[in-house]
Amino acid sequence: MGERIHWADVVAASVREGVEHRVATGITPSGPIHIGNMREVLTGDLVFKAMAGRGIPAELHYIADDFDPLRKVYPFLPESYAGWVGKPISDIPCPCGEHRSYADHFLSPFLSALSELDISPRVHLSSELYRSGAYTGEIATAISHGGEIRHILEHVSGRTLPPEWAPFYPVCSVCGRLSPALILAHDASRHTVRYRCACGNEGTADYSRGEGKLVWRVDWPMRWAHFGITVEPFGKDHATAGSSYDTGKEIARRIYRCEPPHPVVYEWISLKGKGAMHSSKGVAVTITEMLEIVPPDVLRYLIARTRPERTIDFDPGMGLISLIDEYDRVSREAAGREYELSRIASIPTRIPFRHMVTVVQIAHDGKRLFQCLSRTSYDVTDTENILRQAERARVWLRKYAPDSVKFSVRDGLPLQIRDVPEGEIRGLSAYLEFLRVLPAWSAEAIHNGVYEVAPRCGMDAKRLFELVYLAFLGQVRGPRLGWFLEALGREFVLGRLSEAVYPCVL
Ligand SMILES: [Zn+2]
Ligand SMILES: [Zn+2]
Repeated sequence: MGERIHWADVVAASVREGVEHRVATGITPSGPIHIGNMREVLTGDLVFKAMAGRGIPAELHYIADDFDPLRKVYPFLPESYAGWVGKPISDIPCPCGEHRSYADHFLSPFLSALSELDISPRVHLSSELYRSGAYTGEIATAISHGGEIRHILEHVSGRTLPPEWAPFYPVCSVCGRLSPALILAHDASRHTVRYRCACGNEGTADYSRGEGKLVWRVDWPMRWAHFGITVEPFGKDHATAGSSYDTGKEIARRIYRCEPPHPVVYEWISLKGKGAMHSSKGVAVTITEMLEIVPPDVLRYLIARTRPERTIDFDPGMGLISLIDEYDRVSREAAGREYELSRIASIPTRIPFRHMVTVVQIAHDGKRLFQCLSRTSYDVTDTENILRQAERARVWLRKYAPDSVKFSVRDGLPLQIRDVPEGEIRGLSAYLEFLRVLPAWSAEAIHNGVYEVAPRCGMDAKRLFELVYLAFLGQVRGPRLGWFLEALGREFVLGRLSEAVYPCVL
């Protein structure tokens, strides 16, 4: 590893010098925003922070494509949405009834996730930009240069466009759809077009008031010009030969006379065993669901530690535990660029997630949780943060944990212990004596005791572990024994083990 330069620093070092930089990210809030989409914004933020770290003047922008039309009735929508297809998602009612619009329904949890992830972009809504007239000049340019743009698109992408093609879709005054209407005339001085919609309506659209939108392949370079975007991450689908970035580059240079942004192409995040995430297909973990279980700095780390061009295969089960363990290790060393770029200043060091997973299965309420934790050496003063961690562990157990990590401490001595041969119970009894005289009730000593006691009794250590678990859980496997017994507390552990060995030994 050593001197390997972090990918975000590589990008920061390769951008043009002597200009004010604007890093753009954009997501269409047409469905639940999942962690695959999150890669876009996190990639942008990491590059932005790397630039800031080098003293390069930069801003981070997020443009929500909430003026895009609803493409179809997605599987997560009721059939009644069929009537809204083709209309801008900023104008469609929210599916739950609690948000301003369909777009806002998906955007608003996403924006709170951003702040939790310590990402603070300047947020722009496409619907507002179009409706406020901010883009009027750029739209006029696009419509006036329709022929040239069409030539670029055909030439670079290799596809043929119909003769009546125009870069602008008006919102039809009758059917309300953003549609590829026939543009009959353009009056640049009044910012209007005459159009004939597929529904038969002929009307006038004023693009200074948002009565229409540029097609995606033109909209994208138009906003580079409008905002002066210099760096932009985007998914690999926009990066293939002849794709929207290629055509956008030409449109930017030849129509808008600006340099296209430095591209940062990223790969998909797939869900282990399920393939790439697509909210429209229902294969996705939303960003909100993700933050219910993953601490935000760990989520940053997931993106920071992987170069953008590499796929991330995300495993929300045991894979998540390994990821958190890895991050905890990196954060203890408190070195390395990945950690610097991932850490969130307001988050203190925390109790290991594995340990929390054990503790919440022992303690079912807040009071017992703190009793358990106070037996350990962890700092438990930040109660709010600890309760949040505990909740993450509970959600993880409920939704993603494999059965092998789940357990419940029995209220009474499990009956199975009565079937254990007397010889083995003597081993358990010896371990009980060991614990009784243990000077300090610490996880490590408790754990090591098994290895000390078992050979003295002619037993396999593995078997002794099994018996201890059996006495508490009624099963031969359980969480790391030292932590587990430490959290259960001395009194309870000695009591239960005494019960277990009583009939044979006393
Ligand atoms: Zn809603
Ligand atoms: Zn129409």
